[in-house]
Amino acid sequence: MRIDIVSVFPEYFAPLELSLIGRARERGLLEVNTHDLRKWTHDVHHSVDGPPAGGGAGMVMKPGPWGECLDELVPGPEVPHLLVTSPAGRPLTQEFARELAAEPWLLFGCGRYEGLDQRVVDHASERMRVTEVSLGDYVLFGGEVAALTVVEAVTRLLPGVLGNAASLDEESHTGGLLEAPAYTKPAEWRGHEVPDVLRSGDHGKVDRWRRDQSLIRTVERRPDLIARLDPGTLDERDRRL
Ligand code: SAM
Repeated sequence: MRIDIVSVFPEYFAPLELSLIGRARERGLLEVNTHDLRKWTHDVHHSVDGPPAGGGAGMVMKPGPWGECLDELVPGPEVPHLLVTSPAGRPLTQEFARELAAEPWLLFGCGRYEGLDQRVVDHASERMRVTEVSLGDYVLFGGEVAALTVVEAVTRLLPGVLGNAASLDEESHTGGLLEAPAYTKPAEWRGHEVPDVLRSGDHGKVDRWRRDQSLIRTVERRPDLIARLDPGTLDERDRRL
């Protein structure tokens, strides 16, 4: 997968050199390019913002630098899926991340100030798929943290990036439930014990215990997820719990 990220703070993306994403890049599973939007400015101050049309607080990102940036990064005929960060966008979910992980090229546009002039999105939509993406129902200073989060959620789903792909099948938000609690050695720590069943060596019992815990956790913590669960995925015992 190729990922391009445009921001006025490309330094935000240094962590993409680290850990599993860094390794995936070294192994050629992933190409990440960061770009400073100010490269496409022409004034001495490299300004990227202007006062909002119609008045009001704050500043708005000017369309000019974004337009030139997209012209240069996307000369065609191949086009990326442009993801513009916005609190008014499609909320990031595991399902959305899975959809994005199937794409060959993602281009992130990180907003700052009061966001991008709407015409950047409208114009880009004439030649590529554009989706505004939100991290959640709160407002950040800028889109960099949102882009980093989407990159991390998406790239760990790419084939070969995770050492043990089975982790992906067993985790929260896969199959609609939260994952069961996890333990490691020692068996007893500060008066708290690893549940006996996890030390029993009986894989059937361990699986059942994990399934039960998963359901209990989801009911207690995220009843909204239970309400959306496909009843066909529940077995007899699930229903009794
Ligand atoms: N005035 C804008 C509004 O109310 O929709 C918020 C602007 S915010 C201060 C600046 C930029 O941060 C946004 O343009 C967006 O790129 C990014 N941002 C803020 N909150 C976000 C969120 N929840 N998800 C994704 N991006 C966000």
